[in-house]
Amino acid sequence: MFDQFNRRINYLRISVTDRCNLRCVYCMPEDGIEQIPHNQILTFEEIVEITKLAVKNGFEKVRITGGEPLVRKGIVDLVKMIASIDGIMDFGMTTNGVLLKPFAKPLFDAGLKRINVSLDTLDPGKYKATTRIGNLSDVLEGLEEAKRVGFKPIKLNCVVEQSSAEPDAQAVKSYADENGFIARFIPKMNLDDGIFGVVEGGEGGNCATCNRLRLTANGVIKPCLFSESGYNVRDLGIEKAIEMAIKNKPACGVANRTGEFYNIGG
Ligand code: SAM
Ligand code: SF4
Repeated sequence: MFDQFNRRINYLRISVTDRCNLRCVYCMPEDGIEQIPHNQILTFEEIVEITKLAVKNGFEKVRITGGEPLVRKGIVDLVKMIASIDGIMDFGMTTNGVLLKPFAKPLFDAGLKRINVSLDTLDPGKYKATTRIGNLSDVLEGLEEAKRVGFKPIKLNCVVEQSSAEPDAQAVKSYADENGFIARFIPKMNLDDGIFGVVEGGEGGNCATCNRLRLTANGVIKPCLFSESGYNVRDLGIEKAIEMAIKNKPACGVANRTGEFYNIGG
């Protein structure tokens, strides 16, 4: 389906949980978040139904994100269910990688072939400071395992202050080159103030070519990360919510004071 600015909207990002096992300083408050009550979180059946109807309406690209998708109970089953939907050309996941070592093989076997792992630095101390909780070694071991089981491509999402010229980003780039991974550099964004920039080495952040809708863990389809509008699939019906989100996708994002990265999926 095309939106009113003639952009073909064919990419659905699905946040499967608002929960996370890290507390990155640019994403979540230290003492956590007010979580969506369990009974409001979409079931796997609902997520699959929404994805099928999106595909029926021309969507070809699907990405699972969060919160941290690997903390959603039964995530491998969900991956299997989505991987078996006909018509998806490109199916990926964005994860912080902390649980990737045990999950890489089951996810791959369930049909996931592409993975993006967030990695801002190769310095264990800075990694701990940024994520407040995480151990860099878990992520590096997870990446090694993902490579071993055959994920391709493996992309690294590296958040930068300004650009990839920064030393931590350069280290991530060298590590990516050495391992056959692809590094993408995401300028640090601020949803409240509407501060966002174009992702270096990726597609995000460029409104003129944006082809995305986002589904939150509690069933709201959002036309834009930097907009407060959203359409609830349970209130409106799935196809109507998709249609309204496409119809009301803004030419360009402005700001979002009610949403956060961890509940919209970044
Ligand atoms: N937990 C998973 C992870 O970290 O990869 C998936 C969800 S996370 C919200 C998705 C992406 O958003 C991550 O690559 C993260 O670095 C990025 N992100 C979060 N907050 C951000 C911010 N303020 N500015 C830019 N990117 C951000
Ligand atoms: Fe969790 Fe990802 Fe947000 Fe970090 S960026 S707090 S890993 S959701």
